[in-house]
Amino acid sequence: MGHWTPELLSPAGSLEKLKVSVLYGADAVYLGGQKFGLRQASDNFTYEELAEGVEFAHSRGALVYVVLNSFLHDKDLAELPEFLALLSELKVDAVIVSDLGVISTIKKHSNLVIHLSTQASCLNVESAKLWQQMGAQRIVLGREVTIKEAAKIKQATGLEIEMFVHGSMCMAYSGNCVISNYTQGRDSNRGGCAHSCRFEYSIDFNGATSGSSEEANKKAYFMSSKDLEGIRLLPEFIEAKIDSLKVEGRNKSHHYAGTISKVYGDALRYYREHGNFLSSDMLLWEEELRKVSHRDYSTGSLATYAGEDTIYNQREHDDNEFVVSGIVLEAARDQHLLVDVKSAFHPGDILEVMPFKGPTTKLRVDFLKTLSGVDLVKSKPGSVVKIPFLPGAEKFNLIRKAVRV
Ligand code: SF4
Repeated sequence: MGHWTPELLSPAGSLEKLKVSVLYGADAVYLGGQKFGLRQASDNFTYEELAEGVEFAHSRGALVYVVLNSFLHDKDLAELPEFLALLSELKVDAVIVSDLGVISTIKKHSNLVIHLSTQASCLNVESAKLWQQMGAQRIVLGREVTIKEAAKIKQATGLEIEMFVHGSMCMAYSGNCVISNYTQGRDSNRGGCAHSCRFEYSIDFNGATSGSSEEANKKAYFMSSKDLEGIRLLPEFIEAKIDSLKVEGRNKSHHYAGTISKVYGDALRYYREHGNFLSSDMLLWEEELRKVSHRDYSTGSLATYAGEDTIYNQREHDDNEFVVSGIVLEAARDQHLLVDVKSAFHPGDILEVMPFKGPTTKLRVDFLKTLSGVDLVKSKPGSVVKIPFLPGAEKFNLIRKAVRV
């Protein structure tokens, strides 16, 4: 049976990304419907997409959690029972909630399993016990909690415990912030966060900004946080029996969803088979995590409380090493790959095909054709094209292209 590992919980920002996350190794995915979640900007699921997504995940043994973690006003709450009935009908595996009014409504109108959202900032045993009495079966702990503290909460309550293992962090207590409300007119606690903390600010620390330009610049991004990377702490998560490891990023790319699910999925699979992480692939896994767009990585508060070294003192910039060129729709043996194009590429380009398991394989675009066989000089995003066949390539494999070396 192998050694026990936590669930790997990946983001599903769209139906396509749900499929990517599941196929690349997620044990469970979380997603938002058209309302009640905290990511207005993500490509939230319609009812039909939700039905297809649940069926896709369940048929592959993966679970689906739906976020209902906005803080709602009474007028919003009135519309919730109808959505709960739909979720019950689809047999989603849990809902992720932070508002007590939402929890109360769920208990009155459904038997849905309740996970407490990180947005509720549960940081201690007494708080966890109270949420347990309210009906929570799982607590997604605040990012401010260390793995050691999380272990104590689990031991004292018997609750399922979920912690973030990778992705963006928020400098406020897990989203309890109104900077976006005041600077952009967008409500962070109802899904409108504009990442205002990442902006450049000038502030006069008793005249510090009038000092050297280096000092002034250093203070300018003082609220922006580095990204979380917990791969080196997987042994600690396992020892603490943390039930679920969550990857942040419903708004992020297909490349992100696929790569992070694959890397952590591969690492956890290695542990199940060997009972340790002494794999020569550890460096390769870390290298892959650096290929997706990210700020500098940090372990946040997982080992010790986050401090000054978790501040990302830089202007946001695009550091993508790769972009997704397309997704394989069909692999016609010895003939061609049919590809749903996501970004332009050309004949002669060297692409990389990401298998669901194992290392990527390079593929030279020796021909690029339309479905009817007409030669192209460039692929157009949104179109479907034929490129050379690659042994081992499968439907839904991501194909990427290096944008800088
Ligand atoms: S603006 Fe920054 S600190 Fe505030 S909720 Fe958004 S990510 Fe968090």
